[in-house]
Amino acid sequence: MPQKTIFQVLINNFMTNFDAEVIVIGAGMGGLVTASQLVAKGIDVLVLEKYLIPGGSGGYFERNGYRFDVGASMIFGFGKEGTTNLLTRALAAVDRELETIPDPVQIHYHLPDIDLKVHRNYDQFIADLSDRFPQERRGIKQFYDECWRVFNCLNSIPLLSLEEWRYLLRVFGQNPLACLGLVQYLPQNVGDVARRYISNPQLLKFIDMECYCWSVVPADRTPMINAGMVLAIATTEALTIPRGGWGKSPSLWRRA
Ligand SMILES: Cc1cc2nc3c(=O)[nH]c(=O)nc-3n(C[C@H](O)[C@H](O)[C@H](O)COP(=O)(O)OP(=O)(O)OC[C@H]3O[C@@H](n4cnc5c(N)ncnc54)[C@H](O)[C@@H]3O)c2cc1C
Repeated sequence: MPQKTIFQVLINNFMTNFDAEVIVIGAGMGGLVTASQLVAKGIDVLVLEKYLIPGGSGGYFERNGYRFDVGASMIFGFGKEGTTNLLTRALAAVDRELETIPDPVQIHYHLPDIDLKVHRNYDQFIADLSDRFPQERRGIKQFYDECWRVFNCLNSIPLLSLEEWRYLLRVFGQNPLACLGLVQYLPQNVGDVARRYISNPQLLKFIDMECYCWSVVPADRTPMINAGMVLAIATTEALTIPRGGWGKSPSLWRRA
């Protein structure tokens, strides 16, 4: 019989002592959501975390009675409709809810030549941007509408593993129109689509900056498939600030 590694011995030890069927390593959002979903299905789970508090990149620290988020603070996934409200559903599965505050302006850009607020209200955002670039009014609407088309496709299919081909085939069978809608965007990047409608270099730079803020790469390197998330998302109801900070959420899952 092959000798067990120290890791296997430790895991077996944990399984026996804590009577856990599954061990989740890491209490970041990924680990906590995974663990809570398993608990909701009646499975005994042990979560191991190497840091002092749970949360990982969505953790927090406290100073003088105030709680500060260390990473994530503005969170997508708390919508009420569609399939992109993964966090609402993950919490609901364990009878929890996190109170969130709608932010009327997601980002206020203070750029050398552009001072612009990205309003949660889509029409207001489009109107403000069009006032700033009146010759591009039509192109602006066309470009952001196209980002919304991507978002609407994403929001109508279950978003789980994009690497598991059997799962993808099943999703395709259930939502052929939404999937076909997305497929056409797979080879396109945001920069190419923006230039199809817009020619003003300053406005294209602004779109570059928007992409950078959300996807950490410029428009030419942001896949169009992400644009629904990185651009349309900024003007959706689904983007919110958790009351008391995102750092509150690990304790919700922990209590589950
Ligand atoms: C500055 C910043 C801002 C962000 N802003 C947003 C935002 O506004 N909106 C948004 O949606 N997302 C945001 N994110 C991203 C979001 O925070 C992360 O995608 C998410 O928290 C990642 O969760 P995770 O569980 O995959 O990983 P992590 O949060 O990295 O969690 C991994 C956990 O595993 C633990 N761990 C690692 N190795 C071991 C080990 N060997 N044994 C035990 N434990 C281990 C770590 O200590 C950690 O707690 C932001 C991230 C950062 C850094």
